[in-house]
Amino acid sequence: AKQKGRAGFALFSEDLTHQATERIQLGNRLRRAVELDELRVVYQPQVDFATGKIIGAEALMRWESPDMGSIVPTRFIPLAEEIGCIVPMGEWILRQTCQQGRAWLDAGLPPLSLSVNLSAHQFHQADICQVVADILHETGFPAEQLELEVTESALMQPGNQTIELLHGLRKLGVRLALDDFGTGYSSLAYLKHFPLHMLKIDKSFVDDIPHSDKDMRLVSTIIFMARSMEFKVLAEGVERQEQLDVLKGLGCDLYQGFFTSIPVPADEFIALLK
Ligand code: C2E
Ligand code: CA
Ligand code: CA
Ligand code: CA
Repeated sequence: AKQKGRAGFALFSEDLTHQATERIQLGNRLRRAVELDELRVVYQPQVDFATGKIIGAEALMRWESPDMGSIVPTRFIPLAEEIGCIVPMGEWILRQTCQQGRAWLDAGLPPLSLSVNLSAHQFHQADICQVVADILHETGFPAEQLELEVTESALMQPGNQTIELLHGLRKLGVRLALDDFGTGYSSLAYLKHFPLHMLKIDKSFVDDIPHSDKDMRLVSTIIFMARSMEFKVLAEGVERQEQLDVLKGLGCDLYQGFFTSIPVPADEFIALLK
């Protein structure tokens, strides 16, 4: 769009139209990704500070299109939310992960905690508790090994029964984690009413510790606050030893990050346990 005047404007709007068309096309492809078996699950280890051992993993979605290659989640997840297909996709990864978890138990592996992300749309489906209950029943994966991650924005949607939903899920025996903690708007007043098990400190707060005094204070406050509310606390996006040392000293319970491993396919994850 380098031409000037009216022609420039025309080119610019053509660009926009082109982008919109591309988005619609990508969306149509995404709608069929589940049935065409183009989605994959990768697992990122979660490590216990106390023992230094991997206690489980977060399951993350990957989209491998035969002709477009791999499309990153930051591109396709928001699109899936927008066009509504995040609900079947979210159910797909939940089922896959529970099946995998059951298979690992049957293979004699120790019980692992597996975390699955619930999008706001999925969380606010009328029957989310039933969906989760059915998948647990169908796969035979023990509820206490499943953790569901919700974001602050999912919990902050007005005019719904968020707390009842959380209690409903808890009654199934699953654990609940608040994802990307600190990036949303949850107030302490709300937080104390939510029956959560864990806060996941967003990577953006972890990136510059121990060098940023501000982030050091923020992270230590979050950990202190989480512990005083009896939530477990996990630090996301740990890449360096110095971050680990500091987090451990602050009393953080768990961490995940490239320091241990990027998210990897199931067999590679199992190899990391040894
Ligand atoms: P998230 O739930 O916060 O997941 C953590 C993201 O941080 C993952 O990106 C992971 O690869 C990345 N990460 C972990 N440790 C490090 C690190 O040390 N350094 C860096 N640079 N990155 C790290 P990923 O897999 O690309 O996913 C991005 C986001 O897409 C997720 O953020 C989540 O919001 C969404 N997403 C992915 N899979 C699913 C899914 O199955 N369902 C839903 N609803 N959302 C998903
Ligand atoms: Ca997550
Ligand atoms: Ca996160
Ligand atoms: Ca994130």
